Amino acid sequence: MSLPSRASYRDIPLYSPSKVRCSIDLSDNTNLFGMPPAAERTLRETAASQVTRYPVGYAPNLKQAVAHYTGVDVSRVTTGCGSDDVIDSTLRAFLEPGELIAFPDPTFVMMSYFSKVNGLRFAPVPLKADFDIDVDGLLATGAKLIYVCSPNNPTGTVASRAALERLVENAPGIVLLDEAYAEFAWESHLDLASRPNVLVTRTLSKAFGLAGLRVGYAVGNPTLIAEVEKARGPYKVTGLSERIATAVLSEDVPWMKSLATESLSIRARLVAELQNLGLKTLPTEANFVMVPLPGAPAVAERMRQRDVNVRAFQGLKVVGDALRIGCGPWNQMEAALGALREALR
Ligand code: PMP
Repeated sequence: MSLPSRASYRDIPLYSPSKVRCSIDLSDNTNLFGMPPAAERTLRETAASQVTRYPVGYAPNLKQAVAHYTGVDVSRVTTGCGSDDVIDSTLRAFLEPGELIAFPDPTFVMMSYFSKVNGLRFAPVPLKADFDIDVDGLLATGAKLIYVCSPNNPTGTVASRAALERLVENAPGIVLLDEAYAEFAWESHLDLASRPNVLVTRTLSKAFGLAGLRVGYAVGNPTLIAEVEKARGPYKVTGLSERIATAVLSEDVPWMKSLATESLSIRARLVAELQNLGLKTLPTEANFVMVPLPGAPAVAERMRQRDVNVRAFQGLKVVGDALRIGCGPWNQMEAALGALREALR
């Protein structure tokens, strides 16, 4: 007897980043400087009742802390189990199965996965040669929801303000702007979330160093936010994650900012060293650097044999094969550069 699975799920593979555990892991763009101090303290102070009881539905304390951090009214905030969950819930909230979503190519690899699990058709639209988004191409798809990531994963490049404004003004439906790396960028576009058709997602997984807690959020018009909350349900953020994230947003923003600044100076040193090796790098406003390199997957494999994990991509639109290297403490970058030098021999 065949199992009663959804026909449209049969060809969807599980997400599998090359997760061999290495001592140095620069593959997922998280904060590699350790846990925020308020997270450590809150973990120690957590009482049994916070584990045995349900959290308060819809995470009101966390929403309040996000509202304060982002400078918006709490009615404009929703949260989720990572921004993955917020993005997934947004697609489910606004698109019926069979409808169309558009996004730049390359972009966050999970977008095609989220599209498939929600039964959506999707239209990847190549980035322009200068790595800006192709607004006309995205609009020409007629998609009811357009996703843009800036700074973009995996390229690190940004969408220009002019392009984003033209997209938001002319999109027939929702624009979902993913700012997972906003804390490292020159400019944020969170203000666009005041438009009626825009949601901006962010995460505590990257600059704030809380990837294991799975906390993300979106800012937007309260009527859009309410639809996302319907799709997501009341309890996706665990009580413990809510407590820790609330404390970190209230107390550790200076901690986060100083490490984000340090990451940027480390990034500049890394770029200089990569260029010394004769490699090109893409312009980046994120805490990682994309290095176009033919045969990148084999190079990454040789780096893994030297206990350093970086992310490799093959045949990306506009870029080709490439390595994506996250920025952490300089001793980790030195080890990565050493492994890369040997891998290139
Ligand atoms: N968006 C982008 C662009 C990302 O790179 C990631 C993490 N890889 C996410 C969203 C999801 O992050 P999280 O679910 O940890 O918030």
